[in-house]
Amino acid sequence: MNESDSSAVILRASGIWKEYKTEEDTSLSILENVSLSLKKKSITSIVGSSGSGKSTLLHLLGGLDRPDHGSIIWGDQDISTLSSTEISRLRNQYLGFVFQFHHLLPEFSALENISLPAMIAGISKKEAEQKAYDLLGRIGLQNRASHRPAQLSGGERQRIAVARAIVNQPAILLADEPTGNLDESNSQRLLELLLELDHLHSCAVLIVTHELTIAHKCDEQWILKDKTLSPL
Ligand code: ADP
Ligand code: MG
Repeated sequence: MNESDSSAVILRASGIWKEYKTEEDTSLSILENVSLSLKKKSITSIVGSSGSGKSTLLHLLGGLDRPDHGSIIWGDQDISTLSSTEISRLRNQYLGFVFQFHHLLPEFSALENISLPAMIAGISKKEAEQKAYDLLGRIGLQNRASHRPAQLSGGERQRIAVARAIVNQPAILLADEPTGNLDESNSQRLLELLLELDHLHSCAVLIVTHELTIAHKCDEQWILKDKTLSPL
């Protein structure tokens, strides 16, 4: 497919505005007229200092919160026209999330943490566990299948969080500072994993980070500053 082909766009945010109401009944403007497109088989980065609104934007793109103005379109579906339940359902099929803190379920093994979203999506336990086991192989952790999160290192937990995010083969993967708590070599390894995903799964990957070395490895690079996005 031609990269400039507009059909390659699988998430389109246009003219997004967001402010938070503060307790004194004043408001705090975070995003003003932000537009962004994510393309299939492409990896996009957004850098910005702490408090610049990166997580706010990522939550809006992922339908976890709603903008005050502007539209967010997944595929050909404008999510502002959907109820929260419909958004959740679509999100489960369409999007994967990786957060700064892994959010793995502490009571469950690595294999179970990865297979659960697949079972929720409706496939059998056996099939889900096979998928999870294959993914553990891909991230070099098959020998940690029965470990719980507390028995894993930070880097291992984040790789498992990525595997969990992609088990349902989402069209879009949104990662919020996924390497924020990792040392240099683990950070590098996680980045390599994310960088190969876009092509392996025809996925659009968005990495929000404050690390320029990561941002520079991405196909498209943006900076969030003064409430808006500009090319990095
Ligand atoms: P980043 O991820 O770039 O560090 P955030 O998007 O988390 O930034 O936050 C941007 C700004 O919005 C910060 O000043 C933060 O304090 C404020 N903020 C974030 N969430 C809320 C909220 N739910 N209510 C009020 N203010 C918020
Ligand atoms: Mg943040």
